[in-house]
Amino acid sequence: MKKITITIDGLSSTGKSTLAKELASKLQYVYVDTGAMYRAVTLFAMQNNCIDSEKFNSKLLVKNLPKIHIHFEFNERLGYAEIFLNNKNVERVIRSLDVSQLVSQVSAVEEVRTKLVQQQREMRKDNGIVMDGRDIGTVVFPDAEIKFFMTASADKRATRRYKELLDRGENVTYERVLKNVESRDYIDSTREISPLKKAKNSIVIDNSDMGLKEQFERIYSLVSSRI
Ligand code: C5P
Repeated sequence: MKKITITIDGLSSTGKSTLAKELASKLQYVYVDTGAMYRAVTLFAMQNNCIDSEKFNSKLLVKNLPKIHIHFEFNERLGYAEIFLNNKNVERVIRSLDVSQLVSQVSAVEEVRTKLVQQQREMRKDNGIVMDGRDIGTVVFPDAEIKFFMTASADKRATRRYKELLDRGENVTYERVLKNVESRDYIDSTREISPLKKAKNSIVIDNSDMGLKEQFERIYSLVSSRI
């Protein structure tokens, strides 16, 4: 079977990674969560006094970029690759609301994007890759064979993310989560470099009223028709 590149972009908390993971595992493709990479850089910035809720010293972060090493390691038990920042597993800590609140500022920095986009392109060795993010179909792999763009109402997305955070034991309110989802989408889609937008030839999936099984079947049948 022909191996292809599949991109999944879209708004925050539309369940892109869940679908991408499932698709990659069914096709036996590599899965890359690029949001995790921007989150890992944000965690580094937080740990090295480059950013907090009051200030963002983007120059200091840029100066420190050569010290940031990100890699993924496949976890057999979980069935997906976990992210490591300077050899430390940060898969869980990068998903906190604190990181979510700062990540969009960090990901708007040109040098950060240049570094991560280069690494993302290198991960496509011989096709057979599912990558999710915000600019994958537009900037990272504009030549991908199939591109999806996921969207859903802000309320549905915030409700899902809120439940996820509560399950992880985080002390959050629905209002804070909704505000974060909306403000990330605003910053991500209005930034100068590689803003979040629908690639011309992408297939839009609005999953406001769709279950996981239905979404997966729809996406899988579209992908199957291309390979
Ligand atoms: O996908 P996730 O919600 O984990 O992404 C976190 C943030 O990382 C996004 O809100 C966005 O600011 C940034 N991001 C990006 N480009 C990507 C993936 C994520 O700017 N390709």
